[in-house]
Amino acid sequence: MASLEYYVQESQNLAVLGETASYIPALDEQDPSQFAVCLIDENGNQFLAGDTSTSFTLQSISKVISFIYACEEMTLDYVLQYVDVEPTGDSFNSIIRLENTEFGKPFNPMINAGAITITSLLPGQNREEKFQHLCDFMGKMIGKPVKINQEVYESEIKTADRNRSIAYYLKSNHILQGDVESVLDVYFRHCAIEVTVESLARIGLILSNDGVDPITNERFFSKEISKVAKALMLTCGMYNASGKFATFVGLPSKSGVSGGILSVAEHEDLQGLQGKIGIATFGPAIDPIGNSVAGIEFLKRISIEYDLSIF
Ligand code: GLU
Repeated sequence: MASLEYYVQESQNLAVLGETASYIPALDEQDPSQFAVCLIDENGNQFLAGDTSTSFTLQSISKVISFIYACEEMTLDYVLQYVDVEPTGDSFNSIIRLENTEFGKPFNPMINAGAITITSLLPGQNREEKFQHLCDFMGKMIGKPVKINQEVYESEIKTADRNRSIAYYLKSNHILQGDVESVLDVYFRHCAIEVTVESLARIGLILSNDGVDPITNERFFSKEISKVAKALMLTCGMYNASGKFATFVGLPSKSGVSGGILSVAEHEDLQGLQGKIGIATFGPAIDPIGNSVAGIEFLKRISIEYDLSIF
């Protein structure tokens, strides 16, 4: 059986097949050859490899966290009045189906239309409060204060015509709540939250353990919400490659265009890691769909080697 170190190296070699995201200029400045991996199990044992000290922005991975937090605060039933739970097979920033659904409800919270709607449902009197509540929620899970990458945030604001049109369209259909520009600002900020693979893997571990951190025994969200979030990750989490990812990897996962992937797994002995496992990978060279080339390769290989698929 090959080691995890071997799969990290093999996957990193394939990063040359991808490119950094260019539509947000600050993301294009990332070093495409980087690759980092963290796996953490329910006893706190970790596997770390690669450029693990590098911070990267959550981008679309933040959609999982904002969805969970909105459901936890506002209830799942309330949130699902505004966003559905159906995969689309369209790209993350697609607008086309919004005209054809009942009331213009976005298909799911993992695409931009759904995530921007979720952001509008977050509790708080104004944009600062809404963002701060979300940061506090995430900060408790990762055990440290959350900060954003100002350069990426500003870079995204400048290139946000597409997201702006989605948001205004949602507002015209009475799906997006509140002031459009404030909602977008909170959305861009949560996309620009910085993490390392270590902190992201901890969130994966909590998801894997149905909302409870198995190391501290602290509950952050309900089992019911955890189940819905993982179902959404599996069916919609890897953009319009979610079906292939479910087929060939089979782990609830969410990717972002910065090159991060958050995954949840379970195993009796994954090179010494046992039970519930959180996984985070970071490799900024992405494929045309938006998924990290090295990250996908690593997850595919370890899923086959250790039979990790949930199916
Ligand atoms: N902030 C990004 C956007 O809305 C998120 C993209 C992504 O990671 O899919 O364009």
